[in-house]
Amino acid sequence: ILARGRDVCKQNGLLILSVLSVTVGCLLGFFLRTRRLSPQEISYFQFPGELLMRMLKMLILPLVVSSLMSGLASLDAKTSSRLGILTVAYYLWTTFVAVIVGIIMVSIIHPGGAAQKETMEQSGKAIMSSADALLDLIRNMFPANLVEATFKQYRTKTTPIIKSPKMASEEATPRQILIYGVQEENGSRVQNFALDLTPPPEIVYKSEPDTIDGMNVLGIVIFSATMGIMLGRMGDSGTPLVSFCQCLNESVMKIVAVAVWYFPFGIVFLIAGKILEMDDPTAVRKKLGFYAVTVVCGLVVHGLFILPLLYFFITKKNPIVFIRGVLQALLIALATSSSSATLPITFKCLLENNHIDRRIARFVLPVGATINMDGTALYEAVAAIFIAQVNNYELDFGQIITISITATAASIGAAGIPQAGLVTMVIVLTSVGLPTDDITLIIAVDWALDRFRTMINVLGDALAAGIMAHICRKDFAQDTGTEKLPPCET
Ligand code: ASP
Repeated sequence: ILARGRDVCKQNGLLILSVLSVTVGCLLGFFLRTRRLSPQEISYFQFPGELLMRMLKMLILPLVVSSLMSGLASLDAKTSSRLGILTVAYYLWTTFVAVIVGIIMVSIIHPGGAAQKETMEQSGKAIMSSADALLDLIRNMFPANLVEATFKQYRTKTTPIIKSPKMASEEATPRQILIYGVQEENGSRVQNFALDLTPPPEIVYKSEPDTIDGMNVLGIVIFSATMGIMLGRMGDSGTPLVSFCQCLNESVMKIVAVAVWYFPFGIVFLIAGKILEMDDPTAVRKKLGFYAVTVVCGLVVHGLFILPLLYFFITKKNPIVFIRGVLQALLIALATSSSSATLPITFKCLLENNHIDRRIARFVLPVGATINMDGTALYEAVAAIFIAQVNNYELDFGQIITISITATAASIGAAGIPQAGLVTMVIVLTSVGLPTDDITLIIAVDWALDRFRTMINVLGDALAAGIMAHICRKDFAQDTGTEKLPPCET
């Protein structure tokens, strides 16, 4: 038994360490909360977690560019277009199913009711219109400057402008007038009271195109995929660049193989640090608790039943074995809340544990991390209907359909970074006339839900790669079984 235990530990050492680190991180975080650390102490404590995020982010750019360019260039035109169409169709379809699951869950549990609202001014956040959100999505697809796209993405800046009421002249229109007289109040007489005559100020929002920090992964994916397809069509003249990309891809994967040994340590501090930062959990209101339960139930149904069943019916293989192979990537998604940052680990798990053809993984994963977000889509639909319920706003069938279409679109537009779904939710709310200010109702629990939905986003991409590998196995077997170019020696 001891020898068997040792074998299991040897084979799954990293996975066991990652599970332990999530547990230790939670325990440490809750223990240290009782110590009331200062913000300065918390930021020092978070440093090892910050290093983990930095390592992951450092690897995204070379990985996405090299995997898409070499992956697509090594396929013939017929294979790449078949894989592309099948992958995108599968992504759209599963995202739509996730939305439907969310709508069913929120209609059954009905978490909404009268809840306390915060105004947008209280929350200190300005809102964006859905037209601006859509324009940003399209702008990000076509970055004007590729170098800038590696560290900045387009995001419209919306600033509230408070318009003072028009006054003929400052002196002529006083804010208050003092009335000299008497007024009855609770049976006693009050004299000389002030009457405020100032009309309430009007708030208008001004939008202007702007950029924020963070890689524009969508733009880089579109550029690299196009370059990859063109390189594939160029034949021999494209060979030097394709072999360069292959070497780059393999060397990045070797860096990942070394860096993963730091990850369990980083996860402890990433999770504990977040628990130290969070608001008092008892302050979370009851309705919000029900809303969080609804999102989590929906994610569980979609991630643990629907997607694995789909995998089973299409491939006739055991989904539990497949999911066990990507467990480490799921834990990294839980710790980082970012499907883009998790990408290097998802690659590693799929190639080494699930033995997916690397040409398929190189296309399906980067595209999935950018456009396939089942967890985000489900959460956006639940959140929108929750907000409608809170406002006692009854949605008709047409509006539910609108929510399901816009939630799918909004999840495609969301970047694979923490809490990106919260921003694109404006598209869903405005499509059915719900108040965008009410996004503030769900902010308190969003950091936690983001971790769970990111896990489902990553799981959806991984299972998609498994399904595509099965569906396209004949194409890839005919396609000489190896890449057009011999893999470089590293
Ligand atoms: N954090 C999610 C991801 O990276 C996106 C979101 O739903 O906010 O996949």
